[in-house]
Amino acid sequence: MDFQAYWLLVLPLFFGLGWLAARVDIRHILMESRALPASYFKGLNFLLNEQPDKAIEAFIEVARADQQTTELHFALGSLFRKRGEVDRATRMHQMLMERTDLSPAQRTSALYELAQDYLKAGLLDRAESLFTELLKTDLSSFALTNLLNIHVTEKNWEKAIEAARELERVTGNSHQSEIANFHCELASLEYSHSRHEGAVMQITAALEANRKCVRANVMLGQWAQREQRHSDAVAVWQRIEEQAPEYLFLVAFPLVESMRVLGRTQESLTLLRGWLQRYPALDLLGVVFQVSLEEEGSESALKLVREELYRNPTLGALDKFLEAQLTSVSAEQRPDVQLMRDLIHAHSSRLSLFQCSHCGFKARSFHWHCPACGEWDSFPPKRNSEGDPVIHKGGGM
Ligand SMILES: [Zn+2]
Repeated sequence: MDFQAYWLLVLPLFFGLGWLAARVDIRHILMESRALPASYFKGLNFLLNEQPDKAIEAFIEVARADQQTTELHFALGSLFRKRGEVDRATRMHQMLMERTDLSPAQRTSALYELAQDYLKAGLLDRAESLFTELLKTDLSSFALTNLLNIHVTEKNWEKAIEAARELERVTGNSHQSEIANFHCELASLEYSHSRHEGAVMQITAALEANRKCVRANVMLGQWAQREQRHSDAVAVWQRIEEQAPEYLFLVAFPLVESMRVLGRTQESLTLLRGWLQRYPALDLLGVVFQVSLEEEGSESALKLVREELYRNPTLGALDKFLEAQLTSVSAEQRPDVQLMRDLIHAHSSRLSLFQCSHCGFKARSFHWHCPACGEWDSFPPKRNSEGDPVIHKGGGM
């Protein structure tokens, strides 16, 4: 290829263009930074110095001076809500909604934010209507999750079931365990209004949604027991062993009661001992101990608890063991054992709590619905002191 003289001209021209482009860019940035009001930097400075209150005031000044700063309005709005200043958050988002220059996506976001403000303020009707409006937008799954929570708060179980089903369809995630619980809530309502047929229909629906729904069979058995249909109650409760045996402790005591009415107390003891052997649980041990004591006397009850303590050396089992010892010790030894038992019992009851796996809330009794975080089936069927043996297993008796 021959050398062409005009190349000497083209090369400097390219350099020149590059230099010009860089300058234009820098000028643009400088212009933009000059356009930012001083309050913006002041706010930033307060934020960096961890003075959020002063930072907010500075940013509000920016927002007032420049009504076009949409993102800043959004940021301030959600910040207000987080700080519990719901009125200010609502006003900020209402102002955004009134603007005519928002893009459709920004309008949807403003609507969603406003709905959340209403929710936080406890204005559930208004929140519900905005979330319903949002069902037609890209934020439908968020809107549905919020609608579901609103229906649960309002105990509107039919609507909750509808929302959970729709949420399953939109997200592909299962909500069957919640749906089963909603049917159980409906069943309980029906039963309390003496509509027994409707109640049973809801229980059937609960088991269809989630065949492992132990709560459904617990309830069904309770109703049968209340109506003196003890054989039915026993049969229903026994089904829990195939469903989820770790929940059997929930029905152990009423099951013994019903079997006692049927004249099958000894049989109930054999059944419960088998359960305790296969699915050890402190609450189950408590019931088996009590029935053994009543039916077979203190020696048999003590033997059972001692065996259980060696098999599962937990604080709870030790507590039961000392309680059992109290029934058989001599009058002379009794005060000593009583003192030990009182100490261990106080410590053990403080630790033996059911704990929500979602939020950590601790409760003395078992819950299907966490009173703190509202999660369903979040309580494992074990007291939190049961999992860890207090000493290493081993050795003979
Ligand atoms: Zn919880």
